[in-house]
Amino acid sequence: MFLEPNFKGQRSGWIEVICGSMFSGKTEELIRRLKRAKIAHQQILIFKPKKDVRYDDNSVVSHDSNAIESIPVVKSEDIYDHIANTNVVGIDEAQFFDNKLTEVVQKLAVKGIRVIVAGLDMDFMGNPFGPMPDLLAVAEYITKVHAICPHCGSLATHSYRLSQEKEQVVLGEKDKYEPRCRVCYSMGNILDFRQGHLD
Ligand code: ZN
Repeated sequence: MFLEPNFKGQRSGWIEVICGSMFSGKTEELIRRLKRAKIAHQQILIFKPKKDVRYDDNSVVSHDSNAIESIPVVKSEDIYDHIANTNVVGIDEAQFFDNKLTEVVQKLAVKGIRVIVAGLDMDFMGNPFGPMPDLLAVAEYITKVHAICPHCGSLATHSYRLSQEKEQVVLGEKDKYEPRCRVCYSMGNILDFRQGHLD
């Protein structure tokens, strides 16, 4: 489990990245850290990209409905408009942001803000997703969380798309994706029959 470093004597803020596949608990971990900061009387704000409208429009909602109110933004630079007096900034679904996000979070960290970013490290093709690889490069702390592969019980690192759509961004949940380990992911739709969801 991630334990926060000692705040005392810290000159600047810093960047934490929580990454992993779908259903790996990224948002739950983001919410856990933000709630702890809130209990410590820190001013927190959470941002998410406006295109992620899967659930309630103003909440970061994880799969277990453990929600915190969030601010939807169209582009990453819009975050600057909201951060006065903020100690901790959370960013959810970071993979959907533009590539300026890396610059934005670094500026926030220099200003003394603790930035916690959560996002998918890979898209459904297994390629690095949006600004995530750059964010991982500049972060002080990285946490990679895993799901469990429903086919073999190994740790799942990949998001396998069950539907036939080919675009990089197709919003969906268990109707469209399942977490898979590297081997089961590489087997592709051979395994779809076993789960009975080949449409
Ligand atoms: Zn597997």
